[in-house]
Amino acid sequence: MQQAIDLIKSSKNILILTHKNPDGDAVGSVLGLSEALLSLPKNVECFSKNKIPDVFKFLTSVSSIKNQISPKHYELVILLDCAFFLRTGIDNINEVISSHNNLLVIDHHPKNKIERGCVSIIDDKASSTAILIYALLKKMRIKITKNISDCLLTGIFTDTGGFQHSNTDPQSLETAAELMRKGSRIDKIAKNIFNGKNVPAIKLWGKALSRIQTDKSTGMAVSYISKSDMEECGAKEEDASGLVNIINTVSDAKFSLLLTESADKKIKGSLRSEDYHGIDVSEIARSLGGGGHKLASGFEMESENVENSVEKIRKIMLKKL
Ligand code: 5GP
Ligand code: MN
Repeated sequence: MQQAIDLIKSSKNILILTHKNPDGDAVGSVLGLSEALLSLPKNVECFSKNKIPDVFKFLTSVSSIKNQISPKHYELVILLDCAFFLRTGIDNINEVISSHNNLLVIDHHPKNKIERGCVSIIDDKASSTAILIYALLKKMRIKITKNISDCLLTGIFTDTGGFQHSNTDPQSLETAAELMRKGSRIDKIAKNIFNGKNVPAIKLWGKALSRIQTDKSTGMAVSYISKSDMEECGAKEEDASGLVNIINTVSDAKFSLLLTESADKKIKGSLRSEDYHGIDVSEIARSLGGGGHKLASGFEMESENVENSVEKIRKIMLKKL
């Protein structure tokens, strides 16, 4: 952590990046850290390959995350909520992180590839990247404003599934309490993220839920969303966020899978399980080139057909069992 602080202190222009398809922890971590560094003051720019999902619009600084990187010199590039730069999805990432930049990674994913030559703060026991950033800001004695609190609490809240997943630990609750004392409200975050669904999103969930299937031989509960589903409902890909957690509530399933057809003949897979099933879904994700946590992971595969993808995953699981 001290190495990270020294790097930040000695850098003027800083670029903050996160993984593609950013979730609440990615968005909250980028915005929270960015606002904190701006107060030092530093020149900070934030970039995401994908548009930030509308559910995070209540975070006031969300428009500061751009989808264009300005071609200037950054002394420091910080990567959040993932540990290797390929995960940013940026095509010319090697140009962006050319050798004159210092690199800092802050992440909580286990067994990840870690970019070489980085200073890194990696703690796979941490519930979220946001909680690691909170510890860093405290150590740097940076004033944690209400805005920063909202961002970091959003990260902790979303990555613990609203303090319900097995990664919900005393430290997450203690940090959440400290952030609430700075003015953040869990009810407001919950309302925006979990309860603020629009009609197209609910219709899309309905379609996927109506076709859930369970596979007895593997213990998998599976459903999918096709491009035509999204068109018919007037929904966007981001509207599927959170749906896999509902599929994961099927009582006789050991793990759940949601496949979502994305525009470019790629299928995005989301896997979830519960601790007491003793399954590590990140192993499935990794064998398909993805990654994540033991109980929540994801991958992307080239495929034109969701049925083929389900069959592929069924075979991987059968081999493992
Ligand atoms: P989700 O299913 O919500 O997209 O992702 C669950 C977890 O898996 C998150 O921690 C996310 O960062 C990780 N994850 C999702 N997709 C990928 C992927 O394609 N590659 C890697 N390495 N991790 C992923
Ligand atoms: Mn995370």
